[in-house]
Amino acid sequence: MKALSRSVGSLQRSGIREVMDLAFAHPAPLRLEVGDPDFPTPPHVVEAASRAASAGYTHYTPSRGLPEVRQAMADKINSFNRFPAGADDVVVAAGGGHALFSLCRAICDRGDQILIPDPGWPNYRNIAALCEVEAVPYALSAGNGFLPDLDRLEELAAQTPGAKALIVNSPSNPTGVVWPASTLAGVVEICSRHDLYLISDECYEAITFEDAHHSPATWGGERTISVFTVSKTYAMTGWRIGYLVGPAPVTEAVGKVVENSISCAPAVSQKAAEAALQGDQTQVGVMVDAYRARRDLALDCLEQAGLRAIRPGGAFYVMARVPATDTRSFARELVAATGVTVAPGDAFGAETEGMVRLSLASHPDTIEEGVRRLGEFCRQREAS
Ligand code: PLP
Repeated sequence: MKALSRSVGSLQRSGIREVMDLAFAHPAPLRLEVGDPDFPTPPHVVEAASRAASAGYTHYTPSRGLPEVRQAMADKINSFNRFPAGADDVVVAAGGGHALFSLCRAICDRGDQILIPDPGWPNYRNIAALCEVEAVPYALSAGNGFLPDLDRLEELAAQTPGAKALIVNSPSNPTGVVWPASTLAGVVEICSRHDLYLISDECYEAITFEDAHHSPATWGGERTISVFTVSKTYAMTGWRIGYLVGPAPVTEAVGKVVENSISCAPAVSQKAAEAALQGDQTQVGVMVDAYRARRDLALDCLEQAGLRAIRPGGAFYVMARVPATDTRSFARELVAATGVTVAPGDAFGAETEGMVRLSLASHPDTIEEGVRRLGEFCRQREAS
């Protein structure tokens, strides 16, 4: 048999998936590794999708998405993200992850480089690998509040002339840090000086607790591509709708990748996303309030357990320090001993070694008991 693809073969097994498999095999896991809201999709969205299916939205759509859905997305960008966009500037994809993959494929050729945040969503590295692109990490160190040092970022940009793009993710997975406006504006300038596309992954844009979310495109859209999803905002991870907006040559190229990979995003799901974006937003506020309360609960429980954590301003994750360097082994041992599942810090990069990610997308009782057991496990480890 001939060898399979080297780029696919090179993909590392996600440390989070490994823990998930252990959770599935455990009789009563306390799951704190998941990045999927535990809320149902709002009923009016489900009803709109059901009506759409009955009305015949069960066929192909234009490859870039239904015009009225792209208009709903553009309207949301104008009002929430506060930069100008029209329906023709939008491409609908099968989730934010697919939008990012299509974008990377549209921008880069084999051997190009792309600057990715460390820590960052593990898929950035794997998307780059699938596109045969070198992912060059830039540090968001805990000592700097998980924010970039703009001087060092500028140096890195100057040292990597082969880089085509830089990815920014605020609010961040895994740290929950919401980047201040001045930092984002600084990154926009760096991208402009070094002719880099700025890929702004704004998948957690609606989940902020104190500070407002800012879209880098408000400081200039020439090189910025903004990526969004309905997955997190509306608890719609299974519907698989994401979208992006950017300069015309980029969106045209992305449209070609979408057309030649999935033809178009699912029609019924597009109509569900339209209903979510245009309908009553009360449920979004309810979910954000719940995540904020869970964040406060998790921080209190971590403090009681004697574990240091970084206070997140958004998204639904908390990073906590644990007494381990190899956090993959730590996470495996933790499940075996206590049934608690956490995401190992090294899944996200070198800057989160010695930390684990706890998800706030779990029930408060799970958070409370899970952190208690985590604290107990850490104490026993330190004592032995
Ligand atoms: N970006 C980040 C940072 C994420 O954490 C995720 C999902 O976990 C995504 C993008 C993609 O989400 P989806 O493909 O469900 O829209």
